[in-house]
Amino acid sequence: MRLRNITGSREFIAENEFCIHNPEEMKGVWREEIFHNDHPLYLEIGMGKGEFLHTLATTNPEINYLGIEKYSSVLYRAIEKRQQTDIDNLFFLRFDATYLDTIFGPGEVDRIYLNFSDPWPKDRHAKRRLTSPQFLALYDQVLAKDGIIQFKTDNRDLFDYSVEVVEESERWKIEEITYDLHHSNQLEGNVMTEYERKFTEKGNPICRFVIRRGA
Ligand code: SAM
Repeated sequence: MRLRNITGSREFIAENEFCIHNPEEMKGVWREEIFHNDHPLYLEIGMGKGEFLHTLATTNPEINYLGIEKYSSVLYRAIEKRQQTDIDNLFFLRFDATYLDTIFGPGEVDRIYLNFSDPWPKDRHAKRRLTSPQFLALYDQVLAKDGIIQFKTDNRDLFDYSVEVVEESERWKIEEITYDLHHSNQLEGNVMTEYERKFTEKGNPICRFVIRRGA
């Protein structure tokens, strides 16, 4: 998701109280320094305008949430919404997830959400897919032992690729999977994202898996 460039969005983010500006310094101490508690830490990578995390954070005050987004113009919209809500368990980072291991210590993250990640359809860009072996190796470094990764998309090619990556890895196992979430018995508790609403309204089936490390 790349919105039209919003004039001043970089400056706005640089001064915003809900954005973490020195994430490398928080490595290993996110709970103490940012959230001031010992609650679980959940991330969404590529959160777009942040509707999903916003809903989760308002309904689960006992969980700490961090949204990671690469582009200022998208993050700007998430912050606008965040500013209208009185919660203390949701912060954002303008950051490229390629460098995740520079900002989280081993096992520091309890859950990772990947929602409607960019598909990068060309083979030569496969490494940029957030479910590539390279990204799964990064998640392996920062995710707690029992941590999970949840992935949703309407892009069947990206989903099939991701399932293959997981099945070929010796590290991860699929715990839940559906190729049509909204007509499955896994829908309970589902929180919609902006993209999910848009694609569901068009009638696209939504694929979802949950993975964790194998025994
Ligand atoms: N998750 C939202 C949803 O479901 O509505 C937005 C989905 S949008 C298609 C994907 C988002 O991921 C874009 O906003 C993009 O900028 C962001 N993104 C892609 N690669 C990223 C990366 N390596 N690090 C951080 N954000 C990334």
